[in-house]
Amino acid sequence: MLTLLKKISQEMAAAQQYEQALNILVSSTKEAMNTQCCSVFILEGSKLVLSATDGLKKAAVGKFKVPITKGVIGWTVQKEELINLADAREHPQFYTSRVLMEDEYRAILSVPIIHRKQVLGVLAIQQSEARQYNEEEEAFLVTLSAQVAVAINGLKQKKKVQVARRQVLLKGESASQGVAIANALVIGGQITLEQPSTPCTDVDVEYQKLCSAITRTRASLDEITQKFNSEQHEELASIFSALHLLLDESSLGGEYEKEVMLGWSAESAVSRVSLRYIEQFSVMDDAYLKERATDIRDLGQRVLRQLIEPNRIKLEPDEKVILITREADATSLAEFPRQKLAGVVSEFGGINSHACIMARALGIPAIVGVDKLLLAELDGKQLILNANRGQLLISPTRQMLKEYRELISAEQALERKYRRELKKPTITVDGKRAELHVNAGLLSGIHNETVKETDGIGLYRTEIAFMMQPRFPSEAEQHKIYSEVLEAVPGRPVIMRTLDIGGDKPLPYFPINEDNPFLGWRGIRMSLDHPELLQIQLRAMLRADAGRQQLQILLPMVSHLKEIDETLEYFDKAHHEIQEELGSQLQKPKIGIMIEVPSLIYQLDQVAQRVDFVSVGSNDLTQYLLAVDRNNPRVSSLYDSLHPGVLRALQRIMLDCQQHQLEVSVCGELAGEPMGAMLLLAMGCNKLSMNHGNIAKINYLMRRVSFTELQCMLRRALLLDSGQEVRDLLTKYLSAQGITLEADTDV
Ligand code: PEP
Ligand code: MG
Repeated sequence: MLTLLKKISQEMAAAQQYEQALNILVSSTKEAMNTQCCSVFILEGSKLVLSATDGLKKAAVGKFKVPITKGVIGWTVQKEELINLADAREHPQFYTSRVLMEDEYRAILSVPIIHRKQVLGVLAIQQSEARQYNEEEEAFLVTLSAQVAVAINGLKQKKKVQVARRQVLLKGESASQGVAIANALVIGGQITLEQPSTPCTDVDVEYQKLCSAITRTRASLDEITQKFNSEQHEELASIFSALHLLLDESSLGGEYEKEVMLGWSAESAVSRVSLRYIEQFSVMDDAYLKERATDIRDLGQRVLRQLIEPNRIKLEPDEKVILITREADATSLAEFPRQKLAGVVSEFGGINSHACIMARALGIPAIVGVDKLLLAELDGKQLILNANRGQLLISPTRQMLKEYRELISAEQALERKYRRELKKPTITVDGKRAELHVNAGLLSGIHNETVKETDGIGLYRTEIAFMMQPRFPSEAEQHKIYSEVLEAVPGRPVIMRTLDIGGDKPLPYFPINEDNPFLGWRGIRMSLDHPELLQIQLRAMLRADAGRQQLQILLPMVSHLKEIDETLEYFDKAHHEIQEELGSQLQKPKIGIMIEVPSLIYQLDQVAQRVDFVSVGSNDLTQYLLAVDRNNPRVSSLYDSLHPGVLRALQRIMLDCQQHQLEVSVCGELAGEPMGAMLLLAMGCNKLSMNHGNIAKINYLMRRVSFTELQCMLRRALLLDSGQEVRDLLTKYLSAQGITLEADTDV
C-alpha cells in the first residue's frame, strides 16, 4: 500500500500542470483500487467542480458543478468525513445529472481532501455492483487523500498565480512589520551563479583576473561597512566584515584560487566553488547554517559581477520601490539607496536571516517565503505590501489602493496621536502608575527617540550582538557594546540578559544540532556548560557598569534552582575579580531570572530566596504551557498568550511574587500588546517591557483606562473558555470607553 501511495504522490508532484496532476490522481487511484470510476471534485466558492474523472463523462469536467448542499459529494464536504454507501441511489442524499451518466454506478466511497483544516475538494470512487467498500479500501483512500492534499493545494496556488495575472494576493511570512505601496523592482537575476565550466588557456592571466576581482569586491564591502559604521549600525556593519573574512585566502577566496590553479577560468572557478558549498550548506539540518548558503551565494555573485560586468550601472530607481528577490541578501539591501527602498519581498529565506534582521533594524516592511513569487512576473507592477499580515497584493484595483492609502494615513495619524503624549507619565485615570521599559537587541534600536522617554531597558537581548559576529565577541568587544547600551539611558535601569542561544537563535560559529531545540540546550543551560563564556560575559557587564549602577542581570531559560545557585557562584567570582582589577568597591547589581519554564511558577517561594527579581518571558512561557512551537506556522493559530489557562498561570505568578515580595516584570510580546498590557496591569504587574514601536500606544492606552475596571475585566476574563472570548470581552470594553487603537483592519 505504501509503495502505491508513494507512487501516486510522486507522479502527481512531477506533473507540470494542475489538470495533468488531477488526471494522474484519478487514473492511478482507479487502477490501484481496481474499481470502475474515480473522480475528483474541487471546491470553488460554495460549489464542487468535477475537475478530473476516469469513469464519468470527460465532457463534464469543468462543467459539472454541485452545490455543497447537494448530493453525496456535497454531503462529504459538509460532514468533513468519509462516506461509504453500498447503493447511493437508495440514499436520501442521492443527486445526479445526465451529463455525468452517474446512474450506472451504485457503490460509492468518497473522502474529503483537507489541507490545514480547509476542505479543498472530494475524492470519490464508484462501481456498478452494489457493495460496501471494505475497511482496507477506506483506509487507502483516506490516506491517499491526506497525502495528495498538500500537492493539490500547491498546484492550486501555482495555478492561481499563473492564471490571475491581474489582481493577486500572495502570502508569506512577516519578517519586518509595516505597510507600503510602490512598484516592484525584481533584482538578483542579472548575474547567475550557474556559469559554464570552461577550462582556461592561461592560468596566470585567469589568476590575475580573479585577484583583481577579489580586490574590487573587498573594496566595495569595505565601503558598505564604513557606511554602516558611520551611521552607528555597528552590527549591520559586522555582517559585511564577515563577508570580507569569507573572501580570505583561508576561506572561499582561497578556494576560488585553487580552482583556477586546477585549470578553470576565473568565472567557472567562482561558480564551481560557490555551487559546491551552497549544496553542502543547504542540506544541513541547522536552520542558521542553511541560511549561510545565502552568504556564499551573495559573495559568489559579487565576485562574478566584478569579473563579468565590472562597470555595471548601480541601480538607482527614480521612485521608491519594493524589492522582489529570490532570497534577500544583506548586501543588496545595504547597497540599495535607503530613501528609495519601500519594502522587501523574497521567495526564500527565513525571518532570522541577516537581511531580515537588517530590515527590522531599518524599519523596512518585509515578508519572506512567498511561494511562486518569481513566477508572478512582477517587475514594474504596482504592489501593496502589507507585512503586518504577510500579504502582497499585485496590481491592486483603484478601490484597494484607496483603502490602503487610507489605512496608511490612518495609522500614521494614530501614531502621531500616541506620540503627542509620549512625554506624559503612564498613569491610569484612577491613579495607578505603570512603568514602561523597552526591549532591545540591536544597538540601532537603542539609539532611538522613544527609548529616551522610557523608564529604562527592561530586556537587552545580548545574543543578537553575538549572532552578528563571525566568532564569540571578546570581553573588550562586549564591554564596548554594553557600555553603549548603558549610556543610551543614563541613570535608568538596564536589564541585561546573559546569552540566550539555542532554540531558534543559533550562532554561525557554534552550531547546535538537536531534534528538539526548544527543549534542548538553550539559555543558561549552555552558559553553565561553558563557564568560560559566561565569565567573560559577566565580567564585561560588570566592568561596563562600574560607576553607573544601572545594571541588572537576567538569566534565561532557568528550569532548576541549582542553575541559579551555580550562576550566582560564577557571578560572585566575576564580581570579586573586577573589584580587584579596578581597585575599588563595586556595588552588586540586582540578579533576576526569566520565568519561561512552567515548573518555576510553582517554586517562586524558593526563587525569592535566591534572586532579586523575575521577569516573565511570556513568549516562551506560552509556548511551553500550550505545547505550541512559537515559530511553526502550522500550529500558529493555537499559540495564544490570552488563552485563559495562560492568564491563570500569569496571575498566579503575580500573586506569588507579591506574597514573597519578589519584584516582577513582563518582557514577552504580551506586555506590548494592548489587551495583554491591560490584563497584566490588572494582575498587579506594573512593569512592562516591550519593543520601542509599542511604547507610545501603550502609554496612550493606559492613560485612558481605569485600574479598578481593568481588575473587573480580569476577573471575568479568567472565567472565559478561550483566548478569543477574552479578546471579544476587551474589544467591547475598549469600544465602550471610546478608545480606538487600530486603523481600519479590513484591508
Ligand atoms: C520570552 O520568551 O518571552 C522572551 C522575552 O525571550 P525571547 O523572546 O528572547 O525568547
Ligand atoms: Mg524567551
